[in-house]
Amino acid sequence: MKIYNTLSKTKEEFVPIEPGKVRMYVCGPTVYNFIHIGNARPMIVFDTVRRYFEYKGYEVNYVSNFTDVDDKIIKKANEEGVDSAVISERYIEECKKDMAGMNVRMGTTNPKATEEIPGMLDMIQTLMDKGYAYNTADGTVYYRTRKFKGYGKLSHKNLDDLQSGFREIKVTGADQKEDELDFVLWKPKKEGEPYWDSPWCCGRPGWHIECSVMSKRYLGEEIDIHAGGEDLIFPHHENEIAQSEAASGKPFAHYWMHNAFLNIDNRKMSKSLGNFFTVREISEKYDLQVLRFFMLSAHYRSPLNFSAELMEASKNGLTRILTAVDNLRTLEKDAEVRDLNEEEEKLVKEGAAYVAKFEEAMDDDFNTADAISALFELVKFANTTADASRAKEYLGYLLTEIEKLCDVLGIITEKKEEILDADIEALIEERQAARKAKNFARADEIRDELLAKGIVLKDTREGVKWERA
Ligand code: AMP
Ligand code: ZN
Repeated sequence: MKIYNTLSKTKEEFVPIEPGKVRMYVCGPTVYNFIHIGNARPMIVFDTVRRYFEYKGYEVNYVSNFTDVDDKIIKKANEEGVDSAVISERYIEECKKDMAGMNVRMGTTNPKATEEIPGMLDMIQTLMDKGYAYNTADGTVYYRTRKFKGYGKLSHKNLDDLQSGFREIKVTGADQKEDELDFVLWKPKKEGEPYWDSPWCCGRPGWHIECSVMSKRYLGEEIDIHAGGEDLIFPHHENEIAQSEAASGKPFAHYWMHNAFLNIDNRKMSKSLGNFFTVREISEKYDLQVLRFFMLSAHYRSPLNFSAELMEASKNGLTRILTAVDNLRTLEKDAEVRDLNEEEEKLVKEGAAYVAKFEEAMDDDFNTADAISALFELVKFANTTADASRAKEYLGYLLTEIEKLCDVLGIITEKKEEILDADIEALIEERQAARKAKNFARADEIRDELLAKGIVLKDTREGVKWERA
């Protein structure tokens, strides 16, 4: 398998640290609002990377965080007059619903920054002890960027170019920094902000330290893959490398993967430009499977422009696949149980060539665009060679192969079952009981199960209400 590594700017053969295992970390969203479909791109892309590794037999330890302490969360909390945890918890829940709709699996662990403060204090202390960090009179702790010899290796920037860029940036208190390139590890609290005690001052962490710490805690000091959107290469990932490698003395991540932007009118979709659609808005018009299929229709390192036409094309493409699966299921049910005849044996070999083509595309830096073309070819082949005269085993073969490839892409081929009101009520009751018993895992599972069936739950003052999405 080849992976394009941002660090070397080349495609490299994937060699795991531990045979058969993948340790991967994906920077997750900052939870201050509904996620937009730009944020959904890394979720879908790296969930697919995980699924393909699993298809190839790897065991994947997949960690993705929720950034739940941040200026934007605090601002929103102050606007609403609530604690910032109220905001972050609300949008973590909403994000999980969107993920379930897009069939993005939860990570092995999904840590939250606010629950990892002790680890952050430890790593900052280690950096201080090793001379990579210092504190100023007001209690701010900075990373001594120039001391880390590898700084710039990921973003392929040179320190002196960076220095001139930084001259323009004036941050309060920044005049106390030893060097303009130094970045914040810990900062003093301000009025109306959440804070934690620390040896330097009551305050909160800078953004970058959380990922270094969570990655270390759940995956170890040295990991296989670290991933995120390309806007994270600099400064976020560059700073993560500086922190982690200075603290551990080991290489942090062996492969750095970055998805290109989801654009709209050829500009990056972002909250700050205001040119975004939330996943929730899209779910009102489309099954989120369509959004997932659309995202995978391009290679993850190519920019992708969002448009109604492309969404319609994805919807049609997806329908073509699902209809073929449906037909195969119907045919297979009543097919004759017998050994394959000679012609069918030959056809199985032909079918296998499309599967190989799919794998070849995925082995080449997860080229989902070409993999989907191979899947379409397999579907076309199935449509032309399957009929009522075929052996059950042949139809079953086609069905299994198509289903397996769809599963790699995270496309659900099962028809959404019609669910009766009484069953919904029973599940809601079970969820309430689970919550009472503090079995939140089961409660979440039920909510996701219902969401997958198109039922959205709303916790209101009068109890739980539900509606069909
Ligand atoms: P944020 O919540 O801004 O920290 O972003 C969460 C993730 O979404 C990061 O990996 C970003 O790089 C990614 N991201 C944000 N906007 C876009 C976009 N328009 N296209 C692709 N990825 C994006
Ligand atoms: Zn991160």
